[in-house]
Amino acid sequence: MHKLFINGENVDSLSGASYQIKNPATSEIVDAVSKGNANDAKSAIDAAEDALEKWSEVAAVQAPTILNRAAQLIRTNEQELATLLTKEQGKTLPESLGEIRFFAKTLDYYSGAKITGSFFALTDRVSAEVVKEPVGVVGGIVPWNNPVMLMGAKVVSSIRSGDSIVVKPASSTPLSTVRCAQLLSEAGLPKGVFNVVPGPGGVVGEELLRNPKVRKISFTGESETGKHIMEVAARDLKRVTLELGGSNPVIVTDDADLDAAVDNTLFGRFRNCGQGCMCIKRAYVFERVADQFIKRLTEKVKSIRVGNGLVQGVTMGPIHSSSQREGFEEQVRDGISKGAEVLTGGKRPAGKEYDNGFFYEPTLLANPDPNSKVVREEVFGPALPIFRVKDMDEAIVKGNDSIFGLGAHLWTRDIQKAMRAARKLKAGTILVNTPYGAGGWEIEVPMGGFKQSGVGREYGIEGMGQYQETKTIVYGT
Ligand code: NDP
Repeated sequence: MHKLFINGENVDSLSGASYQIKNPATSEIVDAVSKGNANDAKSAIDAAEDALEKWSEVAAVQAPTILNRAAQLIRTNEQELATLLTKEQGKTLPESLGEIRFFAKTLDYYSGAKITGSFFALTDRVSAEVVKEPVGVVGGIVPWNNPVMLMGAKVVSSIRSGDSIVVKPASSTPLSTVRCAQLLSEAGLPKGVFNVVPGPGGVVGEELLRNPKVRKISFTGESETGKHIMEVAARDLKRVTLELGGSNPVIVTDDADLDAAVDNTLFGRFRNCGQGCMCIKRAYVFERVADQFIKRLTEKVKSIRVGNGLVQGVTMGPIHSSSQREGFEEQVRDGISKGAEVLTGGKRPAGKEYDNGFFYEPTLLANPDPNSKVVREEVFGPALPIFRVKDMDEAIVKGNDSIFGLGAHLWTRDIQKAMRAARKLKAGTILVNTPYGAGGWEIEVPMGGFKQSGVGREYGIEGMGQYQETKTIVYGT
């Protein structure tokens, strides 16, 4: 059984309660985990506060070495961690390995990150020093789609900045997070700097939001939960970083490298069974190349092999849970009932191997009503609506027509068109002729949303800065 990880120890929940984690591909029990409540969260927050003063004094010197050692330990244990992640989350083993390696890279990256300040003269008698200090105890609240990667940004930025952190993983994906905390402790991280309390969002998460000892909340999840978090955190003006939903368009022009655009759209929509904030969620293709684009993409989508992520050769796992699949099916149904043509997919796969999991066929929908759910809402599953557009102006207007503004993808060989569109698209990250994932969007660049996709940024030096306070000291002589 996995336990809570508080003050450097694996501990039972104070109530003694536990619950089971099930594999979304098979419904088999993966393991049990202790179920934290508000008192467990309080005890983790107290441990984090006790660790804070000492850690904030030594982090500048010790964190780089510890983070580096932790990166090595994560790499040494990557097979075990990736298997656990696939079992609790459902993604394929190569996808899990990619996520674990990204976490190791996060540890490496921030181990080398510098925390800088400045010192300058204001007059001949007065100087100013601007320094960065830790923000304090951080509450990190993480969703289930990329549990290790998203936990990583919060935990590693906190540790490097001299903060301590209590993480509440999603209720359905706590196991790999607890294991990572154990490994960071093995790497030498002092007790209480990184704590993990699995348990319900409305109980453990709420304690993090309401406890005055917590000075910052870093949340990744749905926009509606994010709004609630901002409201509650405002009561004692906790700092917030909110990484929320997205409905990212891809625009493919008639001068684009069509093969690259097709491959990227395939990967960008269907990786992790479409369950990613930065996934491509809508496609706008110039009329002149639309038939070709649709033909090539449909062929590739038909070759996706759906199944248990642990089985070699499977390229897309199940949707994470029964309720996620039901919500997703309702979005697809709504699109079809409002005029979408199903190019492929549009149903659950048939066969014995699919009976106990939450599988769905990868789906392409041509031309749904722009007001249907599959276009207006964030779609966290394997379906892509495709639209034909006459030119870039139309593509930009339609691409921006969303309450979200997390990302946008653009494929064109015309640099002027690209630069103009990149400026006009209302999103936090614009990927131009760039693959989604490795080699494209990476840890060095800040990531976050415009509009209802969030507040603040994670990753890069800017992201780490959000785990620090700025102090100005003025010296007169
Ligand atoms: P949720 O908002 O439902 O849950 C996210 C986390 O918040 C979970 O740990 C959940 O706990 C917790 N939570 C729920 N209610 C509360 C509460 N009242 N107080 C405190 N914590 C609470 O999101 P999903 O799990 O459905 O995650 C998917 C969403 O995450 C998508 O919308 C996606 O776009 C977004 N996301 C955004 C990213 C970005 O960087 N912008 C990256 C990845 C995902 P529990 O599991 O117990 O309910």
